[in-house]
Amino acid sequence: MSIEFDALVPLGRRGLIKATNLTMVVLVGGLAIAKILVMGLAHLPVPAIFVVIAGLANAYYMRRNASLNVAAWVLISIALLGFATASWNTGGFGGAVIFIAPIIPILTTLLIDSRAAWISLTIVCLILAALFALEINGLVPENPNSPDLIRSARLVVLACLCLTSTWVVWSFSSMTRSLLQKLDKQSNTDYLTGALNRRGIESALSLEIARARRTNSSISFIMADVDFFKAYNDSNGHQAGDKCLIDIVDIISSCCERSTDIVGRFGGEEFVLILPDTDSEGARSVADNVCAAMAERNIPYGPTDAKPVSLTLGVVSAPGSLINNIDQLISEADRALYQGKNQGRNCVVSKVILKQSS
Ligand code: GH3
Ligand code: MG
Ligand code: MG
Repeated sequence: MSIEFDALVPLGRRGLIKATNLTMVVLVGGLAIAKILVMGLAHLPVPAIFVVIAGLANAYYMRRNASLNVAAWVLISIALLGFATASWNTGGFGGAVIFIAPIIPILTTLLIDSRAAWISLTIVCLILAALFALEINGLVPENPNSPDLIRSARLVVLACLCLTSTWVVWSFSSMTRSLLQKLDKQSNTDYLTGALNRRGIESALSLEIARARRTNSSISFIMADVDFFKAYNDSNGHQAGDKCLIDIVDIISSCCERSTDIVGRFGGEEFVLILPDTDSEGARSVADNVCAAMAERNIPYGPTDAKPVSLTLGVVSAPGSLINNIDQLISEADRALYQGKNQGRNCVVSKVILKQSS
């Protein structure tokens, strides 16, 4: 099934099949009763009676937890057979039933799939071609209804056609919109931790640098690397390592007090913080809070090493006007981080960019 039915209708696929079956039975049944009341039992609408009985049988089949595909195919077959016989009975191209032709392939796409829709479209075209050939040879019976009745029936059928096609186009466009939003979010999100991924970080960083330049404010960027994470994995296994990375994102996020602060996973066991409108002092305090929060959460390195997992953080701050590009901030933060690793880890090293680099 290639269509996301929840985006099309809140009913889901089963609900959509049931609703279509019910609509068909009620609509065709209503028209059949109206015709019997107006014209009497002499002109029994046999195709309509067939559609109602077959539709009710299909509804009963669906209630017994039937295969959805079978129920949908039965429904489309009833519609095709009903369309062919009713078009014949109501004067072919001069009647009203002929206008429901486009609805059947559309319904097939929604209820089954696009391959089934091609089959149903072919059958509809064959029925139309056969009716056309019979009609130009004068073999299709005249519509027995009065011109006013035919006009009213055309009005109802065309209105239904407009409604169905508008609903389908609207549903598909809203489904496409929501799928694009989902795709955009997924392509910027790290699957494991839910933080921004490298792609998301780079686009957020260039946006924030541009904003800092425009508003002449400072921006800070922090790069954090888990200390001896290989040892953590070796002692606890990779799954526990993954869980630890998720906890670390949670700890880092809890230290971001502003809604504008951004947390991301740069790769492996390296994380970043983008702090818009934040100077060196503010960024240093956030980085210190992250170290303290890691110590407080107290995730031990392993069964034989009770020391808590720690981070080393490289912080870089600069006024927006002095930043040339995102690479400049990343490489400065990386340099500060490695300085921290060389100083013995579990620490913060800060840098401030004071002049424009050439
Ligand atoms: P240092 O203090 O110098 O940073 O030492 P380290 O052990 O943290 O650094 P190293 O680069 O030697 O090892 C990084 C480890 O991070 C190795 C790798 O298995 C682990 N790692 C990276 N990505 C993931 C991940 O998605 N899940 C898990 N469980 N481990 C990961
Ligand atoms: Mg690393
Ligand atoms: Mg590391």
